[in-house]
Amino acid sequence: MSVSDTPTPSHTQTERVLSGMRPTGALHLGHYHGALKNWVRLQDELNCFYFVADWHALTTHYENREVIEKNVYEMVIDWLAAGLDPAKCTMFLQSRIPEHAELFTLLAMGTPIGWLERVPTYKDQQEKLKDKDLTTYGFLGYPLLQAADILIYRAKHVPVGEDQASHVELTREAARRFNHLYGREADFAQRVEASLEKLGKDGAKRFEKSRKKFQETGDTKSLEGAMDFINQHPDLDAAEKERLQGYFKGTGKAVLVEPQALLTEASRLPGLDGAKMSKSYNNAIAIREDKASIEQKIKRMPTDPARIKRTDAGDPARCPVWQFHKVYSNAETQAWADQGCRSAGIGCLDCKQPIIDAVLREQQPMLERAEPYVTNPAIVREIIDAGTDRARAVAQETMRDVRAAIGLAY
Ligand code: ATP
Ligand code: MG
Repeated sequence: MSVSDTPTPSHTQTERVLSGMRPTGALHLGHYHGALKNWVRLQDELNCFYFVADWHALTTHYENREVIEKNVYEMVIDWLAAGLDPAKCTMFLQSRIPEHAELFTLLAMGTPIGWLERVPTYKDQQEKLKDKDLTTYGFLGYPLLQAADILIYRAKHVPVGEDQASHVELTREAARRFNHLYGREADFAQRVEASLEKLGKDGAKRFEKSRKKFQETGDTKSLEGAMDFINQHPDLDAAEKERLQGYFKGTGKAVLVEPQALLTEASRLPGLDGAKMSKSYNNAIAIREDKASIEQKIKRMPTDPARIKRTDAGDPARCPVWQFHKVYSNAETQAWADQGCRSAGIGCLDCKQPIIDAVLREQQPMLERAEPYVTNPAIVREIIDAGTDRARAVAQETMRDVRAAIGLAY
């Protein structure tokens, strides 16, 4: 298999989705259940752009960049293992598209520092990652870099966990502010004129009449009618549609698009110790971890501390293994584990075996999908090269509009 055999995504869907992950270690089952599975589902529904957020990794790992270097392509293999398909989505590398940094800089000019200081993750993460000095300009600014990552693709949807919802809100504010400051292109009036001509004499006349009505009375019927008319007009391209809509509403052309958070339902996978699975807590099982290691880790999992001897009855509510049963076992197995534990009918090792089996069963197709990429890593690079080219074309188009809007097109 080579990338040239795989067709480029043929999305009729225009709604773009953007999401990224930081290459700071092997992805684990928490990443799979909490994010990746959702990414895989979305690639069939929308035009998905997924990126390796290597600059974001530097915000916390600026002193150990080797970790990042080692994990960039490994993480992409994890993505492919999970089922991302280069024929269905665009996968790319953030640092290869410096336009992200350009937009970040331009957004930074008008972004009050207080907006960033108030983002909840700012203080939270500094508290959590005490061993790292995160009193840096880069760390303060990373949610704005995320805003640039999103806005540069004019993404409509951003799949995030609840903890990141505030970042999407900041992105929306940044877009609104930008559109407010620079939304009107210098030659807006002439461009509107040219687009109006495409509507034909009658069309333009009706459009102007309902625009007046809307602006004077706020009549929503006029607005809806005009938006439909513009959207369905065969002779207008996307930029022209947007400009005419902005003209109608009196807002100018929205250069940047406000995205929506696509909240992933809270599915926090616990780790081997019962706390949230995280590579920094040393309680994770990697997506492509080897079989022996998975067996060993699960066999060594702590269980209900009150259940010291095999004959002691246990309480599933106090056992991390039970948390895994809730994710990995069907009702029948759950009932077996619950009763066996409470009655001391089964031992903890017995109870763990179905978990070991289920994790290995879940992993098997992922290992199979990863295999060709592990044996031939050049394909992974080709996938990223091709995806980065596609993403760059979109980013460059947005930046042309952004520069023109600000008046940097001299
Ligand atoms: P880690 O938390 O392992 O150090 P990270 O901090 O680099 O990894 P995050 O940004 O926390 O990565 O997670 C990336 C994505 O994976 C997010 O969408 C997050 O919600 C999800 N995720 C991470 N860990 C879990 C988990 N244990 N359960 C569910 N989802 C998770
Ligand atoms: Mg984390």
